[in-house]
Amino acid sequence: MIDIIYPRPCPVCGRVLLREERHLCLDCLSSLPFTYFWNWKDNPAEQIFWGRVYFQRVASLILYRDESPYRSIIHQFKYNRQISLGRYLGSLLGKRLRESESFNDIDVIIPVPLHPFKKWKRGYNQANVVAKAIGKEIDVPVLNGILVRTTFTSTQTTKDPLHRWKNVEKAFKLRRSHRIKGCHILLVDDVLTTGATLEACGTALLRAEGCTVSVATLAFVE
Ligand SMILES: [Zn+2]
Repeated sequence: MIDIIYPRPCPVCGRVLLREERHLCLDCLSSLPFTYFWNWKDNPAEQIFWGRVYFQRVASLILYRDESPYRSIIHQFKYNRQISLGRYLGSLLGKRLRESESFNDIDVIIPVPLHPFKKWKRGYNQANVVAKAIGKEIDVPVLNGILVRTTFTSTQTTKDPLHRWKNVEKAFKLRRSHRIKGCHILLVDDVLTTGATLEACGTALLRAEGCTVSVATLAFVE
C-alpha cells in the first residue's frame, strides 16, 4: 500500500522498486561491484595504508569510481537518511567477513566516531549503523566511547590529501583504553577514499596496549 502512494526508487538506477525488492532493484543488486578484498591479501585498499599505519587487513564490500551510479548508494545512506539501506549493506559485508579467515578472530568493533555536533545535525552516525550490522553477523560487540573525536573538522570533500590529513591528524583520542587491551579491533567506516580519517583513527587505536587493527568499509572509491 505504501509503495503505491510513495513509490520507492532504486538508489542506483532510479527505477521504481517492486514490492519484493527491498533496497535495490534485482538488476542493480545482481551486479553489485563486489571487491572480494576479504579474500585478497595486499589488496588495493590495504596498499593505501602502506607506510602510513599498520592495519592487519582492510576490506570493503563494493568498489566504484566517482562517476559510477553505485556511488549514490552511499550518498543515499549518508545524506538522505536511508538507514535501512546502510544496515542491509552492512549485513552483506558482515556475512563475507564471517566467512573470511582473516576476519574470524575479531574481538571488538569500533566505528569511526562523528563529532557530536555533526551527529546531532545528521541524526545518526552512519559508521555506527554499519558497525552494528556487521556485529550482528559476526557476533562481536560494538564499542562506542573508546575512540572519540575531539575536534570538529569541516567537511572533507573539498580538500586535497595533505589538507585532509592535517585536518584529522589530531582529531581522535582514546578513552578507557584498557578495555581494548590485546584486542583485534575491526575499525568500521562507510567509505574509504584517501584513508586520512581511518589512518588517524588507526594511529590512535594502536596506542592501546597489544592491539591489532583491521578495517572494514562499505565502499572503496578507486
Ligand atoms: Zn536499480
